[in-house]
Formats: sequence, C-alpha cells, structure tokens
Amino acid sequence: MTQATRSIEVNGRSYRLPSEPLVVVCVDGCEYDYLEAAAAAGVAPFIARLLDGSSAFRADAVVPTFTNPNNLSIVTGAPPAVHGISGNYFLDRDAGEEVMMNDPKYLRAPTILAELSRQGVRVAVVTAKDKLRLLLGHGLNGLCFSAEKADDATLAFVGLPRPDVYSAALSEFVFAAGVVIMERDRPDVMYLSTTDYVQHKHAPGAPEANAFYAMMDRHLARLDAMGAAIALTADHGMNAKTRADGTPNIVFLQDVLDASLGTGTARVILPITDPYVVHHGALGSYATVHVAAGAAEAARTLLARLPGVDLVLTNAEACARFELPPDRVGDLVVISARDVVLGTSASRHDLSGLDAPLRSHGGVSEQEVPLLFNRPVRVPEGRALRNFDAFDIALNHADAVRAGRAALAETAGH
Ligand SMILES: [Zn+2]
Repeated sequence: MTQATRSIEVNGRSYRLPSEPLVVVCVDGCEYDYLEAAAAAGVAPFIARLLDGSSAFRADAVVPTFTNPNNLSIVTGAPPAVHGISGNYFLDRDAGEEVMMNDPKYLRAPTILAELSRQGVRVAVVTAKDKLRLLLGHGLNGLCFSAEKADDATLAFVGLPRPDVYSAALSEFVFAAGVVIMERDRPDVMYLSTTDYVQHKHAPGAPEANAFYAMMDRHLARLDAMGAAIALTADHGMNAKTRADGTPNIVFLQDVLDASLGTGTARVILPITDPYVVHHGALGSYATVHVAAGAAEAARTLLARLPGVDLVLTNAEACARFELPPDRVGDLVVISARDVVLGTSASRHDLSGLDAPLRSHGGVSEQEVPLLFNRPVRVPEGRALRNFDAFDIALNHADAVRAGRAALAETAGH
C-alpha cells in the first residue's frame, strides 16, 4: 500500500496517514472573538487569511469546558465517555479521595498521536504546562515535552529563556519550539498546546490579547511557509465572570448546601482545580456534587433555584448530554450562567491572586471554539463540528490538496 492510502483506526474512527506535515494547535481559552479582534486590528494577517477562507468553522468543545478533557478529546478524537478524562480533578470514589487526573492511569483510550507513532509516523508534542505532558505523551514513541519543565538542552535548542508558568511567554515557547522542531526534524505530525494565562486576564481586542495573537500569527505563518498543514482549535472559550462593579460573580454551592441540608450531606467538586489556580481562583462555570443517599432530589431542587445557576442535571442526564464517564462524575452536575462562576465555600477560595477582573470557563457558555484549517477541506453540509474533529478533518477531509499532490507524485513517478 502507498502512503497516500494507508490509514489507521483509533477509537472507532479511521484516519489516513499524513501526506504532508500536519500541525494541530490547541490554543487554550481561544474564544473566536480573540481571533477576529486581532485580525481586525491588522496584527494577525495569517489568522485573518484563515478566517476569510472557506476552511474556518465554529465547533463545540467538550463540556466541562476545561483544559484536560478537551485536550484529551482532541488527541483521541473522542468524548470523555471514551477517554475517561472528565476534568482536571475529580473525586475518586474507589479511593474516597479528591485527586488530580494528570496520571495516564486514568486514560481509557489510546491517542491518535500514539497510534500514528506505532505506524512509524514521526510525532512531536509540545505543551505549555507540564500537567498535560504525561497524558498527551502516553504511549507515544516520539518527542514530547512541556515548556514549563523543558530541560537545558531544549531551552538552548529553542533559543528562549525558561518561561514563567504564569506568563504569555509560556505559550510563546510552545510556538517557537514548534517552529524549530519543524525546521530541524520536519515531523509528520505535531501537536502544540498552549496555556490560557493571557485569555484569563485580557478580553478579546485588548492590547495584551492582540499582542499574544500577533505573536501566534508570526509562528503559524512560519509553519505555513514551511509547507505544513495547520489545524487550529481550542479547548474552550472564555468569558468575563464579573458583576457590574467588576467583582467576581460567584455562587458558593457548598455553603448553600451545608446551610440547608446540613454539613456532610453533599460534597462539591470543582474539576477546574489544578496546581495553577492563581489566575482564576479555581472558579469555573461547572461543578459536580456528590450527595448522600436520599438527598439528591432535595439538593437538586435547592441548587436549581439559585440565581446564576442555569442547569442542574443528574449524573445520567449529564453523562448522556455531554458524553461523560458516569463513574467520574458526581450525582449532580451544575452549570452556571455565562457571567457566573461556581465555588465551594467562600472560605476555601483564595482570590488574593486575582489582579484582573475574573474571566473563566467550564460551562456551556464557553463551548464554542474556532476550528480553522490552512487547507481547503470538505465537510459534509450540516455536520455538527467538534473541536475533537480536528485530526479527522485535517487527515480525512482535505481532499483537494491531497488528491492534487497524489496526482502530482504519480506524474513525477512515471
Ligand atoms: Zn484551557
């Protein structure tokens, strides 16, 4: 079989092997508006070209709209019900403990990256924060490192100093690494995943946001110029979560539940929680609640009446609607309104690190994300697109270019 016709099957989907280098970029917290604002400001000409082309779509991210579930969906081509990563953090019922979900032991499905590498496809992965490195690199026979924990040799190779974990430079390092890896190794597939430090602090069109997208634009344009196919998507959008006076708009669920049902009846888990909470105080628009036997209906009624709460679903309802793994979701799922975040108890959130009005994500209101390609792609009319269709569309539906190149190669061979 020729390279052009070979394909692999991963999590029930078939993927053609790449016929040209493919770079899939997950821009953390990239609300569509950021791209449009940067393009309109004239600071992101490459992105402007992508937005104007016929390969610019709006797609839905996975709910909860958090970083880890969505990155894992993008690299497995499947929802959390399949890959198992339902948050950054969860209550392990078996262990009775609240734990981070960074460990590959929680991953229930192979990644497209790992499976491609098993076929001899050369794969490189660069992530901003180290929390994703083990999950994204699981089973991968290829290059995989984080900007946060890059070793000295990598720093020298990329040519940038070690970035601070709370900085725009952390993401810049990812893009710069992508460019130098493409120059040096020309891998067949590259996955780049940034951090949403800038998006948590700055609204679309703000000078700091435009500067970030201008930086990203320069690097993407270089990858494009090197002949790489590019797919750009995001793990979630981002919205302001403030009252009119600029203070955070928070509903403290644990306090409400404790006051009405008594302490110890319900346990609120915030799956946004991770070791890097300074810029959002562990406040997002999605929470899950574990409730003592017999108290679920009372808790549901109570929470559903709260101003700022949009949706309270049972485990079964939430898992069916959002394609989540039931054993890793509590008895109830709570989703807040666009401008509201959910907390546990007021006393448990340290908001002292919030030096800008709160912007966050997690709910249905942050589900729409960009899905852009630098190649003409054919997507069936009416298909509801997901961010985790990025590999499928880039590898399977960029027919025009692929067919053209195959024909060219055939002609050259004769
Ligand atoms: Zn994120």
